[in-house]
Amino acid sequence: MANVILFGPPGAGKGTQAKYLVDKFSLFKISSGDLLRKEIKNETELGNKIKSIIDQGSLVDDNYIDGLIEKIISNKKYFNMLIFDGYPRNINQAKTLDSLISKYDQKISCVFSLKVDHEVVVKRILGRQTCLSCGLIFNTFFSPSTKENHNCDEKHLQKRSDDNEATIIKRIKTYDIKTLPVLNYYSDQNLLCEIDGMREISIIYKEIRAIMHTLDTWLYMVHLYK
Ligand SMILES: [Zn+2]
Repeated sequence: MANVILFGPPGAGKGTQAKYLVDKFSLFKISSGDLLRKEIKNETELGNKIKSIIDQGSLVDDNYIDGLIEKIISNKKYFNMLIFDGYPRNINQAKTLDSLISKYDQKISCVFSLKVDHEVVVKRILGRQTCLSCGLIFNTFFSPSTKENHNCDEKHLQKRSDDNEATIIKRIKTYDIKTLPVLNYYSDQNLLCEIDGMREISIIYKEIRAIMHTLDTWLYMVHLYK
């Protein structure tokens, strides 16, 4: 198996792809946000420390996150079976990740980056609707709820958030600026794989899945001839 990293701006469908990959390849998803939330929820010593930092309105130091990441990388249960989602966020984290990965004799096999048009992402986010009754997800621009595809009353349809266009564009631009150096870092190591995120979710998934299978074969061959 392989450790992979998934990048994508808000609205690129990163969460959906991560979920598919976790299910298909029995990967364990590492998201620094989830890790922090879990510590806080379990009220561990570290969790309480983190909570007081967040409550003070400060940013959680990379050291805390690195410690949590190491706990999982060092766990043999997840050996070469990790998918990183939303981590690493900066070059320092990427370098730390590299050293942790090699410390535990593993490797990053591929870094997927979902590329999308800003305009489309805005519509994806602004148009998103969830039916509170049956759980189906629609989009007022791309896949609206109709009598043919949905039986519930319209009153159950809920917009996800009160995000406005300016906020979303700002979030995407911030993402681009912050991620670019990290993507370049992986590009220099020939690990970057750019995926056209403008296509249908299922088609994007098929492409990523196919690449995952080639990684698998390749790792298997390496193992075979070692
Ligand atoms: Zn419904």
